[in-house]
Amino acid sequence: MANNQNAAVLSASADLPAGETGTRDQALEVLRSLVGHPEARFHDGQYEAIEALVDGGRRALVVQRTGWGKSAVYFVASLLLRRRGAGPTLIVSPLLALMRDQVAAAARAGVRAVAINSANQLEWAAVRGQLAADEVDVLLVSPERLTNPSFRENQLPELIRRTGLLVIDEAHCISDWGHDFRPDYRRIADLIKQLPETVPVLATTATANSRVVHDIEEQLGDGVLTIRGALGRESLRLGVLSLPDSRDRLGWLLTHLADLPGSGIIYTLTVSAAEDTARLLAEAGHEVLAYTGRTDPADRERAEQLLKDNEVKALVATSALGMGFDKPDLGFVVHLGAPSSPVAYYQQVGRAGRGAANADVLLLPGSEDRDIWQYFATASMPSEEKAAAVLTALAEAGAAVSTVALEARVDLRRTPLELLLKVLSVDGAVERVGGGWRSTGQPWTYDAERYTRIAEARVDEQDSMVIYQDTAGCRMEYITSVLDDETAHACGRCDNCAGRWFPADVASAATEAAGQTLSRAGVALEPRLQWPSGMDRLGVTVKGKIKPDESLAEGRVLARLTDLGWGGALREIFASGAADREVDPAMLQACVQVLREWGAGNGRNPGWSGAGRPAAIVSVPSRSKPGLVGSLARGISEIGRIPYLGELQLEHGGPTGGRGGNSAYRLAGVWERFAVGPGLETAMAGIQGQSIMLVDDLTDSRWTVTVAGRALRRAGAGAVLPLVLGQAG
Ligand SMILES: [Zn+2]
Repeated sequence: MANNQNAAVLSASADLPAGETGTRDQALEVLRSLVGHPEARFHDGQYEAIEALVDGGRRALVVQRTGWGKSAVYFVASLLLRRRGAGPTLIVSPLLALMRDQVAAAARAGVRAVAINSANQLEWAAVRGQLAADEVDVLLVSPERLTNPSFRENQLPELIRRTGLLVIDEAHCISDWGHDFRPDYRRIADLIKQLPETVPVLATTATANSRVVHDIEEQLGDGVLTIRGALGRESLRLGVLSLPDSRDRLGWLLTHLADLPGSGIIYTLTVSAAEDTARLLAEAGHEVLAYTGRTDPADRERAEQLLKDNEVKALVATSALGMGFDKPDLGFVVHLGAPSSPVAYYQQVGRAGRGAANADVLLLPGSEDRDIWQYFATASMPSEEKAAAVLTALAEAGAAVSTVALEARVDLRRTPLELLLKVLSVDGAVERVGGGWRSTGQPWTYDAERYTRIAEARVDEQDSMVIYQDTAGCRMEYITSVLDDETAHACGRCDNCAGRWFPADVASAATEAAGQTLSRAGVALEPRLQWPSGMDRLGVTVKGKIKPDESLAEGRVLARLTDLGWGGALREIFASGAADREVDPAMLQACVQVLREWGAGNGRNPGWSGAGRPAAIVSVPSRSKPGLVGSLARGISEIGRIPYLGELQLEHGGPTGGRGGNSAYRLAGVWERFAVGPGLETAMAGIQGQSIMLVDDLTDSRWTVTVAGRALRRAGAGAVLPLVLGQAG
């Protein structure tokens, strides 16, 4: 029996049959109002899932490709359940972009959907009021909300008591085996356990192999109905083109981007690759925008809209443009560098060709892909040693400790520290409280076996991506079969089935233009303004702002190690075990060019960061690369006719620790390790109050140049202008 409120909502958009009708008729009528088409029909499996939820009160897992209509299943089921007197549906969904589209689609069908996420805090009170008045059909929450202590304490119990249907979107995230495992999602398993057994649960995902499917089924409970569709998409034309280096790959894009159908996405593996590529293409007149985790949220939303409206040819994006972006007529997806797993790759290319008959999907793999995969894989794994350090620090503190304060107690950077805290929190060893984190006192053991398993699974996935690139067989068949699609078959369209469908030539002018853009150098090095907090714990007595008369001026870095241009050469120089060599002449010339532009300034920036032309050069003593740093400083001195006064002096045995630690520990490792020795002091006597250029080879946390610069300022330098070859991190 329909309740009056919802009947009224529905009657606005569809004719509601009088009296009792079968679930199928009701479902069809809701579907038609949802998609806005009077003849709409269910796809294979859609109604079966709805029936299992609404009539059977069951738990269901739907594994279907993007665009199949998973949201129709949960919105239709939600309205039918509401008509039968059930409480609101709770949808756990990971991305805000997804929520925007879903809320709009639901509203069109008369579903009153509201979201609670970190971006709409001002609306929370209103949402709570609507929930209390039973005026919400669907509540969308981000997985992160589920770990928020106040949400868990104040809202979740009531929601669990009333929920009529629980939906877990992108459910592969709850599996360790999923390529996109998020600790927050492990809270969902707890949530399922707390629900009364009569409450139906729907888990949906587009991409899950058998291992992930079994894992999700287990977490859903007994008697799960799994509906699995074929993954292959007829409209996609897959291809792989191996080119020698990034110059050629960019040259290919410059030459052929305009010929790709419609508008699309160019995926890169790193933020700087996305930015460099977007800059190069834009300068050559292509309508493209960069879209990365570094892009401002408002700019991201705008970029998505421009792509949807075909106002740009492409977004050059990292995986930040991911789940939830929906453009049915997306014409192409090109990858500069391969993602680390077939699931991730297929999910990204699956954004194309949903509403169009043809979409082109091309992978331009890079020789550095494996290094990048390795980097991300190790960065995301908790280490036993660090976990133990966090637990000890919290136990010793005895009270809540903020994340920032923890950085002075455990040598971990912010992002891995936060990830580790989440893992520990989901395992029950720590909890978030007002003011930070505290130990629960619950014993915690490092599940080495589990992390080894996950690491092995990652390597398997990487190998599969390499096989995908090298296979002589059908690419669609290969990728859908590694995703355990039983219907995998040769597509007849990919480059291996039907022959190369894309041009392989690269105009030499385009390669040259790409080379020029890539060889362009110079990134601003912002001075540190603030000492890390809690340094006294590490025996360093500084805090607060860095005094203006002890700080650096804005400096320059030749390039970041992740840059497409000079990044490759720098990665070789700084690879572990690489021998110390004098600076390469081309690299020295590039540095000189950076200095020329720095000194000239432009409309917005005064020359030499407003500090005045340096009167002398001083270098940071390097134990691993003395030849490199010395030759760079002497080279610049000769070409720029600026006297080189030599190096700072190492104190107390020189710096300790290495790259990769957190800010507080990096500072402690270099604190008071550099001094102005007697020779340098004499040499500086004649240039008191003038600017000095400080040369170093590699910066990461920037603390080395900051404390070395401070020593020079205290010895009378009017300003210190750091020039560094490479920036890591
Ligand atoms: Zn094929």
